[in-house]
Amino acid sequence: MNYKIALIRGDGIGPEVVGEAVKVLEAVGKKFGHSYELVDVLMGGCATDAVGKSYPDGTAEKCKACDAVLLGAVGGPKWGADKPAEQRPETALLAIRKDLGLYANLRPAALRPAMADACPLKKETALKGIDLMMVRELTGGIYFGKRDKYETADRGMEATDLMAYSEMEIERIGRRAFELARLRRGKVSSVDKANVLETSRLWRSVMHRLAQEYTDVQYEDVLVDNCAMQLVRDPGQFDVVVTENMFGDILSDEASMITGSIGLLPSASIGDSAPGLYEPIHGSAPDIAGQDKANPIATILSVAMMFRYSFQRPAEADAIEGAVDAVLAEGWRTPDIAEPGVTPIGTRQMGDLICQHI
Ligand code: NAD
Repeated sequence: MNYKIALIRGDGIGPEVVGEAVKVLEAVGKKFGHSYELVDVLMGGCATDAVGKSYPDGTAEKCKACDAVLLGAVGGPKWGADKPAEQRPETALLAIRKDLGLYANLRPAALRPAMADACPLKKETALKGIDLMMVRELTGGIYFGKRDKYETADRGMEATDLMAYSEMEIERIGRRAFELARLRRGKVSSVDKANVLETSRLWRSVMHRLAQEYTDVQYEDVLVDNCAMQLVRDPGQFDVVVTENMFGDILSDEASMITGSIGLLPSASIGDSAPGLYEPIHGSAPDIAGQDKANPIATILSVAMMFRYSFQRPAEADAIEGAVDAVLAEGWRTPDIAEPGVTPIGTRQMGDLICQHI
């Protein structure tokens, strides 16, 4: 196959980690007979420097003409909150998600076998294994609701944020979760706060309707406070966890912490039509940029997700994930994950070793 992939290298360590991911794409291409058309797309602080805007005109169109988008990271102190919105990299991130219609954020939290010691939970919990997929609704809920701030007569200032969800928004993310569970271990845990919130009661009723349809998938409701506890008590019980935007924002960070390192975790944001956006969960790490210290694994595993979810090529995804596990099992570590006494390797060497294993 020939795949057309947009590369948003971005800022800080973004270009370094995307560079290693490109090497991995080439290694996979060689092994499985694929070729690529790689399209560089300028976005983020580097775009502000080059053309005065973090999200240059035509960015979405360039990405839409591709089969998938790979993003390193954008942002940095140079383009901080004092800058106008169109110059800030965060503006570009929100804009591209909206323009590509990416309503589902998939964040796997898997403890890689060789990294069990990095898990901050009890050893017996880590040994049971952690392999869950957090599915977060990305374009609705309180982050996008009407907000207001006003003076009251007797209580000073008051502020409100509206949380709204429609059946359509709930159903499309719910279907994603059930379909994903079919590709995994066949279980969906839907997280809400139905004992308090009206939006959660609607969420739950739509999920129950879907559960009747996907009878081959095991289904459960979990209250968000209980889910936060269960994630540290027994994360191995979860397979696919689906939830609304704000709960997902918080729970996905909690889930990533239990797997050890921010440098190891990929993510995907997908909508109904191509292309999906694949990116590591970490930021641009300006403190280590340009020093060959960044861990490229999160970006490389994002490429594995691209093969699995955008290209429906599980063998290629397995080959990448297997190579990462093999390199970690041999004891190779970048500085962020090196145990005391281990001499770390650099970004480029880590990329090379993973390619060799592919
Ligand atoms: P960060 O994720 O960039 O860094 C947090 C810490 O983790 C730093 O100490 C960094 O050195 C380390 N780290 C991150 N990724 C690493 C890797 N691959 N290998 C080794 N160490 C790694 O978060 P931050 O410092 O809060 O943010 C820095 C900038 O990134 C900010 O401008 C922020 O807005 C931006 N950001 C961008 C995205 C994105 O592009 N999607 C996401 C989060 C933050």
